[in-house]
Amino acid sequence: MIDLRSDTVTLPTAAMREAMTRAALGDDVYGEDPTVNRLQRMAAEIVGKEAALFVPSGTMANLAAILTHCGRGTKALLGDQAHTYVYEAGGAAALGGVVMTPIRNLDGGALDLGQLREELERPPDAHFAPPGMVALENTHNLRAGAAVEVSHCAAVAELARARRLPVHLDGARIFNAAIALETTAREIAAHADTVSFCLSKGLACPVGSLLCGSREFIARAHRMRKLLGGGMRQAGVIAAAGIVALETMVDRLAEDHRNARALAEGFGLVAGINLWPVKRRTNMVVFEVDGDAAGAAKFAAALKDRGVLIGARGTTAFRAVTHHGIERADVDRAVAAAAEAAGEAFAG
Ligand SMILES: *Cc1c(COP(=O)(O)O)cnc(C)c1O
Repeated sequence: MIDLRSDTVTLPTAAMREAMTRAALGDDVYGEDPTVNRLQRMAAEIVGKEAALFVPSGTMANLAAILTHCGRGTKALLGDQAHTYVYEAGGAAALGGVVMTPIRNLDGGALDLGQLREELERPPDAHFAPPGMVALENTHNLRAGAAVEVSHCAAVAELARARRLPVHLDGARIFNAAIALETTAREIAAHADTVSFCLSKGLACPVGSLLCGSREFIARAHRMRKLLGGGMRQAGVIAAAGIVALETMVDRLAEDHRNARALAEGFGLVAGINLWPVKRRTNMVVFEVDGDAAGAAKFAAALKDRGVLIGARGTTAFRAVTHHGIERADVDRAVAAAAEAAGEAFAG
């Protein structure tokens, strides 16, 4: 199977498995797991923050960040297409009493600055929940994985800073963003007070995300991780894979981007497939197909029959994601399969 549903399907490399078996371990709830501590120091350094916290998932990283930044009854201003708003089970509202306030996401994943300014510049008034933080996402998952321009991150940070509000960056795929923007994760993260990123997507680790920020913030987030049940014991077993990922799997993401570009070019030539345009493409291709939901389902089934899996994004939209384990030859095979499947599903 050529599995293009997500980069989360990646499996740990041989070097990761080897590192996992040999990892030095301790009880991380006591702060005594040397491998977790090393991973946290590496992560903080890479994104240019003082400290980092290893957590089980990106969802928990973002939730711990919001709970640490925002008091009950305050607003987290975030994109209406943000992963945290759409896909994280409403955790900040359910568990933190935080008023998640959506700001329009433009095509490239940027926030509508006019609407954000309006929210931020509203004078204090007892009728309104006061803002507690602003969140960005880069790359932007629901905007076809687009990398968001650093200048936009800077503009958001400036608006937030004028109100003394913290900015959190959901950087689940921050290294993909850095490659697409020809910059570094540190430069992108410089426009946020706190940043989360995932090890378990394109970096191919089995489990884990990092939340990074000031020493003082991470100390408070540490308590939130405990509250959320995310205090793990000999977590060095999984952190060891994270160290290998940061050392060996970051630069190769460029290959996923090249493959995604080839996939987009190939799919773009297939009649019945309409690509979402993306200025700063990373490792995703999102497209709509002609016709109705039944035709779309037929298309996906015909692709599956030919050994290609894609992800559904609504009734007639799909997502294909390149990742470790998908080679250029797989891309060519997927394009050929898509042409056949489209012929089957949309002809007549
Ligand atoms: C995957 C993802 C998350 C959540 O990560 P999990 O580890 O699946 O909980 C958060 N934000 C974005 C943008 C993501 O793509």
